[in-house]
Amino acid sequence: MARRGGEIREVEETSVHRLEIAQLLDAPSVRRAFHLIDALADAITREHVAICEIPAPPFGEEQRARYFERRFRELGLEGVRRDTVGNVIGFRHGWSDKPTVVVSAHLDTVFPNHVDVRVRRRNGRYHAPGIGDNASGLAALLALIEVLQRVRVTTIGTLVFLCTVGEEGEGNLRGVRHFFTDGWAEKTDAFISLDGHGVERIVSGALGSRRYRITIAGPGGHSWGDFGIVNPIHPLAEVIRQLVEYPLPRRPRTSLTVGRIEGGQSVNAIPQSAFMDVDIRSTSSAVLDRISEYVKRVVAQAVRQENARCAATGTRLSYHIHCLGDRPTGETSPDTDIIRVAQEASRLLGIEPQLEWASTDANIPISLGIPAIAMGAGGNAGNPHTLDEWYDATNRELGLKRALLVILALAGVPEL
Ligand SMILES: [Zn+2]
Repeated sequence: MARRGGEIREVEETSVHRLEIAQLLDAPSVRRAFHLIDALADAITREHVAICEIPAPPFGEEQRARYFERRFRELGLEGVRRDTVGNVIGFRHGWSDKPTVVVSAHLDTVFPNHVDVRVRRRNGRYHAPGIGDNASGLAALLALIEVLQRVRVTTIGTLVFLCTVGEEGEGNLRGVRHFFTDGWAEKTDAFISLDGHGVERIVSGALGSRRYRITIAGPGGHSWGDFGIVNPIHPLAEVIRQLVEYPLPRRPRTSLTVGRIEGGQSVNAIPQSAFMDVDIRSTSSAVLDRISEYVKRVVAQAVRQENARCAATGTRLSYHIHCLGDRPTGETSPDTDIIRVAQEASRLLGIEPQLEWASTDANIPISLGIPAIAMGAGGNAGNPHTLDEWYDATNRELGLKRALLVILALAGVPEL
């Protein structure tokens, strides 16, 4: 909101007093909203389960998007539509479009279509892939809309509700990227992504990443008859060895993971091709640049060595490095309004907030200088991105109340 501070003040001065976040707790509409959040607990959990059971694999979010499009309409949002990449957008207009607060949750999971996403309940916990990340954020988004609508909370600014495609992995933030290249970069005053569980987490740092698929290919052949020709797996192994030995800085914190390796046809065949996926993350884009250059150098060198070793056979390997993802870094400064409000809302509810770095949809607005955070949507969860993911709804209402306070404090509630 800092960028448009002048315009926001203008709304305040020409209209009415805007309630401070501590005053919001005593506002009748907010009290009614808090009661409703408690009263709706079971219904929210039922919808959470229903959302989780709609598969939303990477690049296959359409079915879940259609569900949200329908629900946005049922809940009375205006201008509901799906954009050209599949994001779902709906509006809840305030007195003005200043400020414009975008509240978002990502639709996609990391799980391919064949994974069983049915939810099983055991010992008070809900078990299913994607139940926490991000069915819980999505359920929170709908719950917040429902509460705002039923209690008829008036806001000064406008709320834009957004469900994004492609947050995870190879989706490379394509949904939120599209949103902000579609004219919203100029119009957005604050951006909140509800991502996963928890009540303490406030992600203010955009952890950047670069992801590469390194493919090496050759003629392939018989393990005995053609022995001595180039083998794509050998240089891949050499690349891994050199990546593991690279001295990563502790500060800025940086990680490097070879997450996947695949190749070859059979135990007794020299492979025709092999590939591996490398994920590099850092809070510094300079470090990401440096390591990316190192990866490219090491691959070229390892392929050259294998070609030299097998030169007598006249066979050669070729390689290709494909960028699977490039997520920008950045940080929403701790003295920004959005961070102050999120921390204050947490403390008012008895939560000690933690500022963190992560890779979320908020990376894009943060890198554009738009005040943005990602927050947990309440409850507790574990084993994200695995088939053993679980969710426990204890404290879900606390996460919803915190999110509601943050949204209302940012959009502004007039003193009527
Ligand atoms: Zn997520």
